[in-house]
Amino acid sequence: MVSPYRRVLLKLSGEAFGGGKLGVDPDVIGGIAAQIAGVVASGVQVAIVTGGGNFFRGAELQTRGMDRARADYMGMLGTVMNALALQDFLEKAGQPSRVQTAIAMGQVAEPYIPLRAIRHLEKGRAVVFGAGSGMPFFSTDTVSAQRALEIHADVLLMAKQGTDGVYDADPRTNPDARRFDELTYDDFLARDLKVADATAVSLAREHQLPMVFFDLGVDGNIARVVAGEKIGTILHA
Ligand code: UDP
Repeated sequence: MVSPYRRVLLKLSGEAFGGGKLGVDPDVIGGIAAQIAGVVASGVQVAIVTGGGNFFRGAELQTRGMDRARADYMGMLGTVMNALALQDFLEKAGQPSRVQTAIAMGQVAEPYIPLRAIRHLEKGRAVVFGAGSGMPFFSTDTVSAQRALEIHADVLLMAKQGTDGVYDADPRTNPDARRFDELTYDDFLARDLKVADATAVSLAREHQLPMVFFDLGVDGNIARVVAGEKIGTILHA
């Protein structure tokens, strides 16, 4: 595989880990880990940001009466569980890996140290970033854009479960929804599309970081998108 990218940041939402349910689905994570191992073996450096929606989302807990910041910390801890699950399956797939978290938890992960993360990537290790930004009121989409910029990734790959790109309406509820092959950051923001949060897209726009939305539900799609195949929606200036 010849990739146009040297280093990629892959955002895996919590939905991807749970296979649509609460908790983690070992079969699903095993498949994702094997794909990541294949991409690293082809010479592309891969860092991953894990979401946590398969455990908790702060905004949802808030509607049920919890303090938002505390609920967001619960959400962040969920992302760490996903990061550890992914690390386990990466190691099983023969792929050396490191987890770095934005909230210190020395027994299970390294602290987030960008230069060290880059060094790991250069040595052929996959690096999994957990605990989001460590700050309530943010999302893992925004953290993905920030981490991609800080480690100098060439592209931010937004893996979606069962959705093959960005649509002008929700394709799950609207059969007339139209998919975009490409879209400018401005268009995305003007249409108020919900497939990624606006803060993440604004950050990408400000720094001209390309974002690609693609379907994780099709086996082999991580390698395809890394190879530059046009299988989803690309967001650019
Ligand atoms: N979260 C947070 N700060 C961050 C990242 C995440 O507070 O920097 C919390 C927030 O409550 C969020 C939850 O962690 O709802 C899980 O992350 P997210 O919803 O982004 O996961 P995904 O939708 O990708 O599964």
